[in-house]
Amino acid sequence: MRAFGFRQHGDLDRLEFLDLPEPHAGPGEVRVRIRAAGFNHLDLFSLEGMPGVPLPLPHILAGDGTGVVDELGEGAVGPKIGDRVMIDPSLSDGTCEWCRRGDEVYCRNYRILGEHVQGTAAEWVVVPARNVVPLPSRLDFTSGAGCALVFMTAWRALFTVGELRPGERVAMVGAGGGLVTAAIQLAHWKGAHITVATRSAERAEKVRALGADATLVTSPERSLGKGLWELSEKRGFDVVFDSNGRATFPDSLRVLGRGGRLVFCGATTGPNVEMDLRPIFWRGASVRGSTMGNRAEFHEALKLLDSGAVHPVIDRVYPLSQGVEAMARLKAGDMFGKIVLEVS
Ligand SMILES: [Zn+2]
Repeated sequence: MRAFGFRQHGDLDRLEFLDLPEPHAGPGEVRVRIRAAGFNHLDLFSLEGMPGVPLPLPHILAGDGTGVVDELGEGAVGPKIGDRVMIDPSLSDGTCEWCRRGDEVYCRNYRILGEHVQGTAAEWVVVPARNVVPLPSRLDFTSGAGCALVFMTAWRALFTVGELRPGERVAMVGAGGGLVTAAIQLAHWKGAHITVATRSAERAEKVRALGADATLVTSPERSLGKGLWELSEKRGFDVVFDSNGRATFPDSLRVLGRGGRLVFCGATTGPNVEMDLRPIFWRGASVRGSTMGNRAEFHEALKLLDSGAVHPVIDRVYPLSQGVEAMARLKAGDMFGKIVLEVS
């Protein structure tokens, strides 16, 4: 089968089209004929290679995917041949102590499609039957491929970990990726007051259309910390959602209000930060990490996608043959929303 990925870790020049054996569904699994695959920032990390995450090579990229079930393994329960499905990119064993209590994200054998195991940028992918859900009828294959990872991740970060409540003030730092476009819509649905900080006036327009109440366009004259503090009317925010890491962490910490929660699910500009502990204890604030989402959280997000209350924001769709261009756009970071690959 045709697939897109790499045989060696490195930069974009390592990307290539792969010709790999057609996979088949094992016990409890289904095979999905992929129609579209969605990239995430994670794909750049997989390509570069992550310490402690050894990948069998060659490796197929992308974690999100939509398609049609075309093979059922022995004992696979739920999906039927011909079902139009969306793939849940997180794999858990379903048996460890964390899985048994519904915290699949803490599973001892947790893996993510395209990060630890072969991804969806291929003609077929095989996953456990419980990892496919019906594609919401209002979504086509292409837009459906921009949903699962970002909506489950944003749901958990904002609501479960961040405990964002109606009427609270939330600030989000950075506005380009699919994650923030999902988070803005979820926070809007929840009834929170949303402030988004971005470096681009054009993106500020776009996030307002998604439900942001206030925007800060940062510049040398209007820094992130000062600008957000003013926009909070010197009260601080109840929740700050910032996964940039080193570049913006000190400012995000500074603008937390009393009882404020700084939630992050990544550290794209670097993991090591200097931290002033005083605002944390003075204000009873906290710093909370989050990653991906549990199955229950994924299903909650799916209900909203189904109802039309939130929708995927797709930046650009590329044919499989332009996978390299798609990854280059992801790396350049000037997209707004998700980058999707049409596979077939
Ligand atoms: Zn488990």
